[in-house]
Amino acid sequence: MAKTDPMIIVIEDDPSIRRFLRTSLSTHGFNVFDTDTGKQGIIELGVRKPDLLILDLGLPDMDGVDVIKAIRAWSAVPIIILSARNSEQQKIEALDIGADDYLTKPFGFGELLARIRVALRHSVRSQDHSQNDVFITENLRVDLINRVVSLDNQEIRLTPIQYRLLTMLVKNAGKVLTHQQILNEVWGPSFKENAHYLRIYMSQLRQKIEANPTQPKILLTESGVGYRLKV
Ligand code: CA
Repeated sequence: MAKTDPMIIVIEDDPSIRRFLRTSLSTHGFNVFDTDTGKQGIIELGVRKPDLLILDLGLPDMDGVDVIKAIRAWSAVPIIILSARNSEQQKIEALDIGADDYLTKPFGFGELLARIRVALRHSVRSQDHSQNDVFITENLRVDLINRVVSLDNQEIRLTPIQYRLLTMLVKNAGKVLTHQQILNEVWGPSFKENAHYLRIYMSQLRQKIEANPTQPKILLTESGVGYRLKV
């Protein structure tokens, strides 16, 4: 039986980018549907139930952030946003309300393909709970059931907050998490402004699990936005 190609919806009002995405993604084995408005995109998303959404934040009929809000009310589809270089704040807002990843224009197609693969893999994994018990990346192993973290098969000890921070990243591996999302989840809503807590604990965690904490390979920094755990 032939496997169905993954379906991607593209919402983008720039005709040249839309055409480029349609052509290149089709060539790489994706079914693509594209539209230039947020309203149409939301309707098509409900009808076509795609595996992934690529969303431009600057649309003619509505703000891309509002498109995400509308979609997240009923769908967990992975969302990769395309943002212009001058829309930093909008990008962070989009990630805060549930976008999975972002690319800043102009972007390379190879980079986009890599992000698509990560997002699709993450979404398959979160549907299959049996796969979620042990997470492995590079030389790090996190056993979420027995709460054991090991590096090169040597158990390492983490404080409760370090552990909570790491497991939050593990549960969202591959996805960009904003400073706000992490603070909210690990420390609670009243700590949203305390970004320095996060910096301190992230640095401690890197000391424990990175071979070279100043050039992290696992706990990656998304400059000005947040962090991402390598998958
Ligand atoms: Ca646009």
